[in-house]
Amino acid sequence: MINHLTIIGVGLIGSSLSLSLKQSGFVKRVTGCGRSEENLKKGIELGVLDDYSLSISDAIKGADVVVVAVPLGAMNSVFQQMQSSLDKSTVITDVGSAKGTVLRDAHCSLGEYFPQFVPGHPIAGSENSGVEAGFASLYHDRKIILTPEQNTNKDAVAIIDKMWRETGADVELMTVEHHDRVLAATSHLPHMLAFSLVSHLSKMSDQDEIFNYAAGGFRDFTRIAASDPVMWRDICMANGDALLELIDGFKKELDEITKAIQHQDSEGLFELFRDSKHTRDQLRDL
Ligand code: NAD
Repeated sequence: MINHLTIIGVGLIGSSLSLSLKQSGFVKRVTGCGRSEENLKKGIELGVLDDYSLSISDAIKGADVVVVAVPLGAMNSVFQQMQSSLDKSTVITDVGSAKGTVLRDAHCSLGEYFPQFVPGHPIAGSENSGVEAGFASLYHDRKIILTPEQNTNKDAVAIIDKMWRETGADVELMTVEHHDRVLAATSHLPHMLAFSLVSHLSKMSDQDEIFNYAAGGFRDFTRIAASDPVMWRDICMANGDALLELIDGFKKELDEITKAIQHQDSEGLFELFRDSKHTRDQLRDL
């Protein structure tokens, strides 16, 4: 059980974690910290938080576990502000969607406390953000990836592993490089496709007419284009190399479709669609 949990950045991901751990009784007290007092007050109203502070060093004083749940671009500054108030028994984790930059930031800014930092990423979420978007069952039956380093404290890993399992999630360990490559393919590239499709259509002169007739396929494909722009800007900046490689591969795939249409290659198109359908059919449980 965690006596005192501090969440820095009380949005969808942080508030869902708190609600789930409170529901199961795994946490006694949850302190919130963020830039907006209004958001933190809302967190108390919704039962997400027991108390809050606008100061990072005050919020983490005496905490057993600190969860950093801010956008990737804000991680380093948060780690720097934490440094002076940490103690040897505090376990620190994060939920950032890319792990390479977070690990670099933590290494630079947490100093002697770095071995107490367990990098993590819940493979769960939605296009909604903010404390009001949180819900207790978000992590149920979902995967959490932890990417500890050689010198990460084993007890700290065990505590974070237990915390996430309490939410009903499965926990897996991975190297940072593997995590960033896999997530670029399964999450970051699809978001780029959704954002670029909506952007492209919104610039067409008859966009009103187009969106007026958008149906299920368009809705399913573009739902994630309503995701938070700050979060996605930061993910692109953080995982650019892996993402660029995938965008390149995807462009080649689109070129193949373009050529097949230009050359009236109905057999080629049929084979591509048949193979894709076969692959997608295997993933029905997603
Ligand atoms: P969110 O926008 O709902 O919440 C982020 C919170 O952090 C907000 O309350 C914001 O005010 C606060 N914040 C921003 N900068 C801050 C700073 N400098 N100091 C203190 N607080 C600050 O976002 P979210 O969806 O909860 O995402 C949080 C993290 O979780 C991100 O790193 C994101 O990459 C990761 N993540 C998101 C999802 C998802 O689907 N939304 C899934 C997995 C991981």
